[in-house]
Formats: sequence, structure tokens, C-alpha cells
Amino acid sequence: MTKTEQTRLNAKMIEDHAKNQLMRFAHLPGFPTTKEAMRDYVEALKILPQEQAITSLIDDLVNDLRTREGLCRCPTAADIRRAAYERMESAETAKRACALCSGSGFLTIWKLVTYKGKSLVVENSEVLEGVDTEEKAKPFYEKLKAFQRVNPQGNNQTIMTAGKLCECRKS
Ligand SMILES: [Zn+2]
Repeated sequence: MTKTEQTRLNAKMIEDHAKNQLMRFAHLPGFPTTKEAMRDYVEALKILPQEQAITSLIDDLVNDLRTREGLCRCPTAADIRRAAYERMESAETAKRACALCSGSGFLTIWKLVTYKGKSLVVENSEVLEGVDTEEKAKPFYEKLKAFQRVNPQGNNQTIMTAGKLCECRKS
């Protein structure tokens, strides 16, 4: 099979699948009765790239009808198109999610905080560069503990975490 044939076959499979899924609305008023109207529905569903995505969209629309009170009507082709575009968009957003914060927008940073003498008044706070996990912070905790053991008279110092807005949210 050539690549073109393969593509054509895939398109045909997705189309058949879309038609089958649409039949789940067949008992409802408003279900497309003409070939042209049906084509409109199928095209709307074909916005989604995979059979699985089509099934999942129709699942949601069917569930939506179940929870709705009163007379149920078949969703319009425009409803389906809108829902399909929304799905594509949120899939796109998830894909673009920042590698640093996984899309949460927040990062945890570790800081070495130095207090004035033995007080709890902050004198200095310094970000531990390159530390972005508890694992990487560990040697710093140990270093500080060892330092405090031999310098019991020194300033209060501690390592703490803080939240930071990720670069991806600053633009
Ligand atoms: Zn980010």
C-alpha cells in the first residue's frame, strides 16, 4: 500500500467511525436526515484527528444530554464543531505546557535565609542556584547543619522553600 492509499484509508476509517458515533443521536429530534446535513456533522467530527478523540467527544455530548432536563435534541453540527475545536485547543495548550513548571505557572525555589544574630529578623536571603528539587537541596541542608555544629555562635540560618512565578507566565 502506498502512503497516499494509507492516508486515504485512514480518512475513510475516521469518517466511518464518525458516522457510527453520530448514530448514537439517531433517536433524537434534530438528527440530520439529509445526506448534506450528515456530511456537515461528519466534517465537524473530522476536526478531531483520531477515532478515540471522536468517541470521547460523543461520549461527553451524550452524557451532557442525559443530565439535561426537558426535551433532548440532537446537538447541531455547529455544537459539535465548537466542541471539537475546544478539544483541539486544550490539547494544544497542554502540549505547549512549559517544561519547567509543567504548565502550573509556579516553581519552587530553595533559599538560604540568614537572620540578624539569634533573632528571626531576616538579614539576608539568598536563592540556592540550580536547586529545584528536595533531592538537590539535601546537600545544602547537610552543609548548613555541619556549619552550625562548628559555629554555634553564628547567626540563625535556615533553608526554606518559596514559590516563584515561572518565566512562562511573565510575558
Ligand atoms: Zn513555566
